[in-house]
Amino acid sequence: MLKKPVPNSKSPSSLTHYPLIIGSSRPTHGKLELIAPATGKTFATVAVGTLEDVSNAVAAAKAAQASWGALTPGERSTALLKWADLLEQNTDHLAELESINAGKPIKLAKYGDVPVAVDNIRYFAGIARRVEGAASGSYMGGSSSLIRREPVGVIAAITPWNYPILMAAWKLGPALAAGNAVVIKPAPNTPITTLELARLALEAGLPAGLINVITGGAEVGEAMIRHPDVRMVTFTGSTKTGRRVGELAGGGAKRVTLELGGKAPALIFADSDLEAAVQGVTAGAFVNAGQDCTAVTRIYVEESIYAKFLKRFKEVTMTIRMSDQLESERTDMGPLSSAAQLEKVHGYVQSARQQKIKVELGGELPTGEGYFYPPTILTGAPQHSNVVQEEIFGPVVVVGKFKSELEAIELANDCAYGLASSVWTLNVQRAMRVSAALEFGTVWVNDHLPLVSEMPHGGFKGSGVGKDLSHYALEEYTIPKHVMLETTGVARKGWHFTIFGDQ
Ligand code: NAD
Repeated sequence: MLKKPVPNSKSPSSLTHYPLIIGSSRPTHGKLELIAPATGKTFATVAVGTLEDVSNAVAAAKAAQASWGALTPGERSTALLKWADLLEQNTDHLAELESINAGKPIKLAKYGDVPVAVDNIRYFAGIARRVEGAASGSYMGGSSSLIRREPVGVIAAITPWNYPILMAAWKLGPALAAGNAVVIKPAPNTPITTLELARLALEAGLPAGLINVITGGAEVGEAMIRHPDVRMVTFTGSTKTGRRVGELAGGGAKRVTLELGGKAPALIFADSDLEAAVQGVTAGAFVNAGQDCTAVTRIYVEESIYAKFLKRFKEVTMTIRMSDQLESERTDMGPLSSAAQLEKVHGYVQSARQQKIKVELGGELPTGEGYFYPPTILTGAPQHSNVVQEEIFGPVVVVGKFKSELEAIELANDCAYGLASSVWTLNVQRAMRVSAALEFGTVWVNDHLPLVSEMPHGGFKGSGVGKDLSHYALEEYTIPKHVMLETTGVARKGWHFTIFGDQ
């Protein structure tokens, strides 16, 4: 291991211990030390979820769902808006916890993750009241049909460590708005803000049992998926784990959404605004230290502007301020989330060196505490190489060239992932052609990264199944039910008569 945890001068017993949230109880059993990625030191401890906790949490969710699902959308909406208001009032508190636990600069947590999570919950509280569907009507003589969208029931939500509060909001918002109850398991190393979301939900008056938070890893996650009273699994994480989650959910004939890995390309054409492209892809590549499933990871530049682009990209990248002063608004980039992630990211750069791929910038392990890794730019990587094809999930970006629009599209699509992409051009016809041809769930034109609550997020190909955000997500958490009414009131009429009676 490259970096070992640094002993904390405080003993773990003097640190804040976060309990689980199951119904109205707060179990404290077990103690897992949580490490601040910026220092490598333990800063808090959390209770450890067990298989019995899973059963208790599912039972609490099942009980709560029965009455929550029976409320009107307006009543649910009002309750969720109160919760969102309380979260907003606690922005500083939540942002500080997210910053220390996930190693994020406070700027990102305070102006990004927390307010976006609040907006997301408000959006779902709103659209709960305007569910879309086919118009009711008489689709067969003597009948009327209508659609009800029913809640699924108890949902198991499993989330990753890169955006803990945001990923929790992406699951909880639509699930609760649609009338479901949730058992959520954050990643083992970043559970705090999810626990705080649930605590504040209780404080805002949401019923106990609606949000249950369990900690733990694969064993607890699999028990959640397998539980017979869990009707749907919503997962965000790596493609490898997602496949396993999909198998287990499929085996139980359960609904499942999988938001998985990404390897986003940015296509930079000679007719783009070069400076805007450089600024945009720099932020898009290195935000959250590159630990973002939509981050720019592969930049393909039209040959005629390649040298100019690379020079400027390196200059702008060098201005990124990486620091352990997460609380300072001057810090642009913090550490990676864990020692394991640091080891993985540096391993890819070492492997690139062995393959004679050029490290243009970065690529050296800083000395000192914390899991820091500098912004790193690679060039000359063959399209089939691991650094082009695999998700590194760190501040490492590969820059390559293309000669034609067709080649740019082929290079971008030549990857197992299909989550996000961007095209940089001032030619609107090209922008339309290329965005249609790209096999990705999101295509940005002259930008890269922003998401909005109203629009869907989710992958093509190996990046997953289903959507987060937007009304498409709300639909994932409901089951359409067809209710068909016979409207003539006359016995032995219509289709019965045709099939069973004399003509
Ligand atoms: P991971 O797959 O290792 O873990 C994700 C979650 O799954 C964690 O809570 C983990 O404890 C749990 N888990 C692990 N094994 C399990 C099993 N067998 N059964 C049930 N649960 C299990 O992913 P990670 O390293 O935490 O997160 C990084 C990954 O998440 C990256 O691949 C990234 O691209 C992806 N991600 C995707 C999106 C998206 O919207 N598509 C968003 C954020 C992150």
